[in-house]
Amino acid sequence: MTIKGAIGSMLRYFYRMETVRLRPKEHQRLLGGHQWVFRNEISQTPQAELGEIVRVVSHSDRFLGIGFYHPTSRIAVRIISDIEERIDVEFFAKRIQRALELRHRLLPQAEAYRLVFGEADMLSGLIVDRFDNTLVMQMHSAGMDVRINEIVDALRHVIPDVTGIVERNTMGTRVQEGLPHRDGVVWGSVPDRITFLEGPANLEIDVLGGQKTGYFLDQRINREWIGKHVSGKRVLDAFCNVGGFSLHAGHGGAAHVVGIDSSATAIAAATHHATINNLSQVQFRKANMFDALREYAANEEQWDVIILDPPSFAKSRQSLGGARAGYAELNRSALKLIPSGGLLVSASCTQLFAEHDLLDVVYEESARLRRTLRLVHRGNQAPDHPVLLAMPETQYLKFLVFEVW
Ligand code: SAH
Repeated sequence: MTIKGAIGSMLRYFYRMETVRLRPKEHQRLLGGHQWVFRNEISQTPQAELGEIVRVVSHSDRFLGIGFYHPTSRIAVRIISDIEERIDVEFFAKRIQRALELRHRLLPQAEAYRLVFGEADMLSGLIVDRFDNTLVMQMHSAGMDVRINEIVDALRHVIPDVTGIVERNTMGTRVQEGLPHRDGVVWGSVPDRITFLEGPANLEIDVLGGQKTGYFLDQRINREWIGKHVSGKRVLDAFCNVGGFSLHAGHGGAAHVVGIDSSATAIAAATHHATINNLSQVQFRKANMFDALREYAANEEQWDVIILDPPSFAKSRQSLGGARAGYAELNRSALKLIPSGGLLVSASCTQLFAEHDLLDVVYEESARLRRTLRLVHRGNQAPDHPVLLAMPETQYLKFLVFEVW
């Protein structure tokens, strides 16, 4: 045994983890690779503190993994490893290295990508986006939150080129975890605007003031698709944020593009993007999208391509009915504006609203309007947002393209 190994086993001997025992039969999902233990699945509650590492065992004492404990959250344990190991800088560095290798392999040219996608990178509750040499972190769990310093050290170790690390910990979900809102530079320095290329599009992102982590990286591949298929067309980019789809449409030769968003900051950034990309045919407008669609209908305006990329309409099952109604209204209003031969592009990032739900809604609304649609393309989240098969929760983005007969 090496000296390091001997010290490790001594530490393990003195450091006894608390054990969480599950109720009978509750271990199956975890054996399949799911990473969440719900409170009602536990038979024996440990004397563990917020974010402490615990061992999880089945009712009959089969070892299932170690994870972060939360004494009050609905998710009582978030599994972090299926072996007993120390959760330290070295552990995070190994996981982050593995995450980085996947991005290098699948998106070798990307200057911005999601480096860590939580559970799908075996780092439950941690999100890290990379924009050039700035990293933006979000901690959705207490276990990650209390280890912020180790995570920062690991990120710097794995990516020595990093010049600044930011946290954007202002998500509503943090309240359920009993975590405070925190926002700002954690390490190094961060420019007001970070510039990077996404395909042909020049972007300048404000990671401290923009929405979420600053840019919606999950639509990367879908934006490429749009860039290839709208040459010469009039394109309406609904819910455009800082203009991602619009810029790709413009670079792809669209005749005229209008992007609409209700956020004034997003529209200011989008307008700046049109300027620095030399795309005078791309324009932006601040408006409520539901009103704008009604206004276009009243004026009998037509669009060859309408992209609908609304924010999530439901965070819980209780609000799914409202979400369905929202998607129905949007898709119906958009369809009324698209001539024969045009494209309806309908995206949804509501995780609880599956692809077949969206297909159903679009079909119902098209049938009501007596319009025939053909599904010509289906996309999803970019590969830097991998889907862990054991956790359907990691699959959320739908991107459907319909041709109007
Ligand atoms: N298509 C964007 C991402 C859209 S995110 C991209 O490719 O980057 C959803 C956007 O919808 C946000 O920018 C938000 O400001 C905007 N939004 C939310 N409600 C809206 C409404 N009622 N009308 C217009 N925009 C809205």
